[in-house]
Amino acid sequence: MIKTIGVLTSGGDAPGMNAAIRAVVRAGCELGMKVYGIRRGYNGLMEDDMYEMNLRSVSDIINRGGTILYSARSSRFKTEEGMSDAIETCKRRGIEGLVVIGGDGSFRGARDLSLRGIPCVAIPGTIDNDIGCCDYTIGYDTSMNTIMQMVDRIRDTAESHDRCAVVEVMGRGAGYLALSSGIACGATSILLPEVPYDFDRDVIERMKRTQKSNKVHFVIIVSEAIGGVEEMAKRIQAETGVEARATILGHVQRGGSPTAKDRIVASQMGYHAVQLLKEGIGNRVVAMQKEKILDFDIFEALSMKNTVDLDMYKMALEISI
Ligand code: ADP
Repeated sequence: MIKTIGVLTSGGDAPGMNAAIRAVVRAGCELGMKVYGIRRGYNGLMEDDMYEMNLRSVSDIINRGGTILYSARSSRFKTEEGMSDAIETCKRRGIEGLVVIGGDGSFRGARDLSLRGIPCVAIPGTIDNDIGCCDYTIGYDTSMNTIMQMVDRIRDTAESHDRCAVVEVMGRGAGYLALSSGIACGATSILLPEVPYDFDRDVIERMKRTQKSNKVHFVIIVSEAIGGVEEMAKRIQAETGVEARATILGHVQRGGSPTAKDRIVASQMGYHAVQLLKEGIGNRVVAMQKEKILDFDIFEALSMKNTVDLDMYKMALEISI
């Protein structure tokens, strides 16, 4: 059985990462493993910035957003030199397996380390939900709920002034957050990268149609992959006569205390990762499909496509008019 493992968080932080770290550390310690907490993602691995964690190192973090191990992006890690520094650190510390919590960029790093003899198990931690093999990624639920709460507030003021709120939400190249929050907020139009749009048809005409049934305030949700909300607001105001305001929600969407769902899934995934590593099984991605926790080969996982549910999109359009 593997005796020493490390855990790191990499790429964009997501609420629930701490709950995953907690599960990894507790499960590892219970198996008698030495568990290193590696700081700032792959940087900490290259620079040997880590500390030994124990059962109490992860007390009182299940409820906290962000990541106590900090996160980073590192271009040096992608070079041969960076990779060999990371492997050198693992050898020196006796690290026989790694848990990498992050998005698909971090998975590529985990795949490369696995290929070079350090078994890695990756856990999907990203608010974007953009990992092909997973129905669900840690942080998505919290972020979706934060967006809903923020848009509810924006809606109050839009309603008071008969305005149109054009809100940009995160999601990187994927429209999951835009679609789900758009449905949850009853947005008149939702623009996401997976569905080609025509601004006149999908925004202006829809607004005009709802104006005929006496609707006077509006919410339009726009995915960051599309952007341009300031321009859109100007166009809406010019073409519909409705005063329009643009809001870019930004990093409020990444922070905050994780929801129950994120804490529970993170705990399950962290535990599952350690059960794989203890047998020396690496190059795997832990995933959730149909509410079950399973795992995939990282190569296979990286080749799987994301697909937003187009039936959900169609439904949203029909009921938000
Ligand atoms: P995320 O994990 O959220 O998708 P990034 O795409 O920024 O975030 O990736 C996080 C880190 O993973 C990068 O800074 C880099 O160190 C590492 N990484 C990304 N892509 C690769 C790759 N192709 N090969 C090796 N490491 C990579």
